[in-house]
Amino acid sequence: MVSIAKVIVDVPTMQTNKPYDYLILAEFDEQIMPGMRVEVPFGQGARKVQGFVVEITQASNFKGELKAIANLMDLTAVLDEELLLLGREMARWTFSFQITCYQTMLPAMLRAKYEKKIKVIDEIPENLFFELFKGRNELTWDEATERGLMPQLLKLKKKELVELSYSVKNQAKTKKRRMIQSDLSFEQLEEEIIGLGKRAPKQSVLLRQLQSLNNESISTTDMNKKYGVSAAILREAENKKWLSFFEEEMYRDPFKHKEFKKTEPFVLNDTQEKALQPIMKAVKQHEKEVFLLKGVTGSGKTEIYLQTIAETLKNGQSALMLVPEIALTPQMVHSFKGRFGGAVAVLHSGLSIGEKYDEWRKIERQEAKVVVGARSSIFAPVKNIGVIIIDEEHEGTYKQDENPRYHAKDVAIWRADYHSCPVILGSATPSLESRARAYKKVYTLLELPERVNKKDLPVVEVIDMREEVKTGNRSNFSIVLQEKIRDRIAKKEQIVLLLNRRGYSSFVMCRDCGFVLPCPNCDISLTLHMDTKTMKCHYCGHEEAIPRICPSCNGHKIRYYGTGTQKIEEELHDIIPEARVIRMDVDTTRKKGAHEKLLSAFGNKEADILLGTQMIAKGLDFPNITLAGVLNADTGLGLPDFRASERTFQLLTQVSGRAGRAELKGEVIVQTFNPEHYSIQLAQKHDYDAFYQKEMLLRHRGNYPPFFFTILITTSHTEELQASKKMQEIVESIRPNLRPETILLGPTPKAVARVNNRYYYQTIIKYKHEPTLFKQLQELLSQSQKEMAKGLQIAIDSEPMHFI
Ligand code: ADP
Ligand code: ZN
Repeated sequence: MVSIAKVIVDVPTMQTNKPYDYLILAEFDEQIMPGMRVEVPFGQGARKVQGFVVEITQASNFKGELKAIANLMDLTAVLDEELLLLGREMARWTFSFQITCYQTMLPAMLRAKYEKKIKVIDEIPENLFFELFKGRNELTWDEATERGLMPQLLKLKKKELVELSYSVKNQAKTKKRRMIQSDLSFEQLEEEIIGLGKRAPKQSVLLRQLQSLNNESISTTDMNKKYGVSAAILREAENKKWLSFFEEEMYRDPFKHKEFKKTEPFVLNDTQEKALQPIMKAVKQHEKEVFLLKGVTGSGKTEIYLQTIAETLKNGQSALMLVPEIALTPQMVHSFKGRFGGAVAVLHSGLSIGEKYDEWRKIERQEAKVVVGARSSIFAPVKNIGVIIIDEEHEGTYKQDENPRYHAKDVAIWRADYHSCPVILGSATPSLESRARAYKKVYTLLELPERVNKKDLPVVEVIDMREEVKTGNRSNFSIVLQEKIRDRIAKKEQIVLLLNRRGYSSFVMCRDCGFVLPCPNCDISLTLHMDTKTMKCHYCGHEEAIPRICPSCNGHKIRYYGTGTQKIEEELHDIIPEARVIRMDVDTTRKKGAHEKLLSAFGNKEADILLGTQMIAKGLDFPNITLAGVLNADTGLGLPDFRASERTFQLLTQVSGRAGRAELKGEVIVQTFNPEHYSIQLAQKHDYDAFYQKEMLLRHRGNYPPFFFTILITTSHTEELQASKKMQEIVESIRPNLRPETILLGPTPKAVARVNNRYYYQTIIKYKHEPTLFKQLQELLSQSQKEMAKGLQIAIDSEPMHFI
């Protein structure tokens, strides 16, 4: 009987979610499994394309002659049954292709073309060792394919005698270390010690250590460093058959140079206890319940996560935890590594491709039972999941803004359903969508209304900057803020200052004619970058020199507008020369590990002030901070986006949360030109519930989420007419099938209509119930393949984070 593999192929100009049937040749029979990647001939000329095997069957409905799988790309499945299924469903909700979803799930190391080798990792039969490996320890993938060795290698892989390794050029390969291990029993070692007498003290040290190791292995480096046993002695010991050597793969652990202090669980306070109970119940009973853990900043949410995870580990299960961008919160890594040690795999953007791959493998081999990472970690190959946690669930970074446009929350809930386990969504300022779902009892609401130590939330003072200007203070620091900063410095307390970059940029303008330097490729002005002393386009990356003379009127009065953190730092030095400032923004944190260094310097009180952009608002837990200042609270409010108020409220709440977390009382200064705005006033009162009520009212009036669902369709083309024509066509084709209460906004050109010389048109669909809409749009996409191959782009984004 023949076996047939169903394969999702990767043909960029002819994407489809329908698998193609391929013959499995006899030599590969029973070796090819779902989740493996293969190369298959496709179309005329039978060029080879990549694909994922999704199923093995015995029969095919295909009438013609089936082609056979040409080559393998993996020795084992890289996606398990769960992820294969997830990719299939995700393709539907995200208007993307299954192949794109599968590629997204894999670490970059497996996606790109890296050099692949098959390595011998255990003793293989001698004849095979010479026949296949020509007496060497490794073989390149290409050679193995050319010589037709794959079927035999697959069999060796099944017995775990060989493995596949990837290497990136110019990058460290998988690191190995030399290990020793003794097979002798305690008594046998004792006899050897007695036999030695007093002549060989070093050898008896070694024997004693081997005894205490109880047949466990140890690295030669450790033997030398910890017990002073040299390589020569180890070799001699090998000759005497006391021990044997072997190589062990070493993971490139990015935190290897750090010591993590072991932390013990806190005794929970009553409210924490009350919140934890229902979660524990769901963990123990494997219930797929979604909890919304709404706790003010400093209420001890992290401790609840930690204790929940400890419980899942106790049950022999794993845990998956997402944070907005882990590199931003080294403190979070510390608390996890401190509690669970080596059981934690951390996936964050600061890792190299090789390091990420190492962490991924640790997870795949189930050596790491706790995974902490940013958005894409939701696809970590974790088995037997006992809980999934999303911290700061309201963060926009959980939504990917390119294909596949998935939201990590949706994937988390899907996976929790699959594993039948709870999800915890944690935040001090839940998204309106989540809060509304909790109101409807779709999610279970758990609240932590107080800080752990019953400390009050900090007092927030709002400063009207219009008044400052009137009284002649033209600086970015109000008089009140200046005074408070001086006061804290005198008391040796610490300060965080936030420059809100949202909706805000620095540009140059001619004072005579008002000319603003535009990007030649996009309909947007260039932003001034003081660090590189250039003008840059934030959309296409175009870069040019800062003009000295106005290109429009040849005048000499070109001036800077807007303020960067660097300029603020200079201003701060002028006003308060004694202040020691650490600046944290994209420029000072570009280098790997810079974040962590700056934060630990601040933690060690090497500075009085931590000045930064949004990245300092999250997760910092320093006991000595007693003042938080927001220099410009309202710059984001002007954005034409219905979430502008929500984002401002969230940001202000986050920043306030940094002050007064420990013994010392905290205080917050919020500077704004819009002191009456409800986002600012309610953030001042720490009143999330009132904000929620007010905002829900406005969303209801405006027919926005969570009352309506939204889909954003975008077309783009290098010719404006093509983009607008297609958009028009799409709208005309779907409009007749929509219900009367559904709202179509568009087609219109996008706010920035031209980016990198492509023109963009958009339409927003707001709907309550449209059972056939997804299907229609999917069909539209697949019908447009031909045009898309010729340069048209169509993006369909369900529940987009940005509308401009
Ligand atoms: P959140 O994440 O809600 O902002 P954290 O989890 O960072 O708050 O908790 C604030 C501080 O309180 C942390 O330093 C944490 O170690 C400490 N903490 C948490 N729970 C307890 C507890 N039950 N007893 C004492 N300290 C606690
Ligand atoms: Zn540009």
